Amino acid sequence: MAPLKKQHYDIVIIGAGMVGTSLAAMLLERAGSLNLRIALLESGGIQPKAGLDAYQPSFDARATALAYGSAQIYQQLSLWDKISQRAQPITQIHVSDKGHFGATRLRAETEHVPALGYVVENKWLGEVLFEQLAQHPNAQCLSLFSEAQVQNINRKDGVSTLTVQTVKGELALSADLVVMADGGRSSLREAMGIKYTEQPYHQSALVCNVEIDRAHQNTAYERFTDTGPMALLPLKSQNKQHLCGLIWTVAEDQLDKMLALDDAAFLTALQQRFGYRLGRFISAGSRVNYPLKLQSAQEQVRPGVVIVGNAAHTLHPLAGQGFNLALRGVAALTEHLFNARANNVALSDYKMLQAYQQTRIGDQRSTLGFSDKSMKLFTSTNALLTLGRDLGLQLLDITPVAKTLFARSAMGLTSALPEFNGGEDPTNSQVGEDAK
Ligand SMILES: Cc1cc2nc3c(=O)[nH]c(=O)nc-3n(C[C@H](O)[C@H](O)[C@H](O)COP(=O)(O)OP(=O)(O)OC[C@H]3O[C@@H](n4cnc5c(N)ncnc54)[C@H](O)[C@@H]3O)c2cc1C
Repeated sequence: MAPLKKQHYDIVIIGAGMVGTSLAAMLLERAGSLNLRIALLESGGIQPKAGLDAYQPSFDARATALAYGSAQIYQQLSLWDKISQRAQPITQIHVSDKGHFGATRLRAETEHVPALGYVVENKWLGEVLFEQLAQHPNAQCLSLFSEAQVQNINRKDGVSTLTVQTVKGELALSADLVVMADGGRSSLREAMGIKYTEQPYHQSALVCNVEIDRAHQNTAYERFTDTGPMALLPLKSQNKQHLCGLIWTVAEDQLDKMLALDDAAFLTALQQRFGYRLGRFISAGSRVNYPLKLQSAQEQVRPGVVIVGNAAHTLHPLAGQGFNLALRGVAALTEHLFNARANNVALSDYKMLQAYQQTRIGDQRSTLGFSDKSMKLFTSTNALLTLGRDLGLQLLDITPVAKTLFARSAMGLTSALPEFNGGEDPTNSQVGEDAK
């Protein structure tokens, strides 16, 4: 059989989840002036014009708490005005320990910000991002491949060749740089021999929307209970219903029982576990579950390859940090790639990619470490640890400096945010054929 004719791209992004699409949107900002040809490949279906009823894992019925720093990153893309139309601000975060005295409250007012974060439905974020990819002045620099599953990647003589299965048959692409944004179950990562550390929590996150009998006052609750932590995020009201997004950590052996409860029994169990701080729970939407684990790839860069998002690190959703961490990562990557291109450095250059990774190590270590340690500390029933965490919460509550540090970490502002835009206007320069 004659070899397939390859289409060549400067950058191929594998996976159009929240991280891959955000990266593509960032790269488009200067793709015209830097003459970048980019491909974004997604194994699922992308239907941006049909209300995004897509079946990609990122854009399911969940809502995501975007940190204040993430809102600033989307502001650099001029996307925040649109996203914020359906974003619910979090002006207070209430952290408490069920049955114990420890509690603390973070307030946006005290931190001199309009909100500590914002809750956005994943589907809405997807709709805004795909619209941006289609309507950006540099849209012609991007080829979007839907229902295109990357089967394997081979790197030879400084170029990667990808075999892609599409509905129309097999396709071969080549790229200077491959960015793997293919999620936590990345089979490609394993095929490439990239090792990772994995620690299962033996828990699942049970997620659903719940209706409450009063306004949530823009408050997010994190409540630690003896069977695992739970979070309630304020959602936009719909049809005058007051809604919150529930993330309830459930032990593996309890999951089937919790899923099998009818709505009334589920609401009773929730009320009993969470208490009446938010009023009465009236109804619950459909329940979905996600197994929880801490996962971290041991290599995140190779010559011509970068691993980002859940494929690089998957963490406990308790503190709502996984996507925020990943977004800061792809913003930093964009900044490095733009600088490299502007200075005639190859996009596959290992030193440049290592320099990018160096800038991410601190943030990744502290975010992964914080989410893992707090998860363990707050699920422990050890009396000394329980006393320690309650004293810690009380101490945090009365120490303004510590509270601000804690708040800045929740807001994703512990280090300077990457600036990839450089204030440059997008241009309209043409670059070759497009696979759209
Ligand atoms: C219950 C829960 C609540 C959460 N809440 C928050 C929160 O409030 N705040 C926060 O910051 N984070 C939160 N997170 C974490 C956040 O959801 C993830 O960090 C984020 O979804 C990761 O996105 P991703 O694009 O890296 O991966 P994914 O969403 O998994 O996307 C990967 C994409 O790659 C595609 N793909 C896979 N393999 C291939 C292939 N071979 N070829 C082509 N395409 C491929 C997939 O179809 C998919 O679309 C939460 C997570 C959970 C489980």
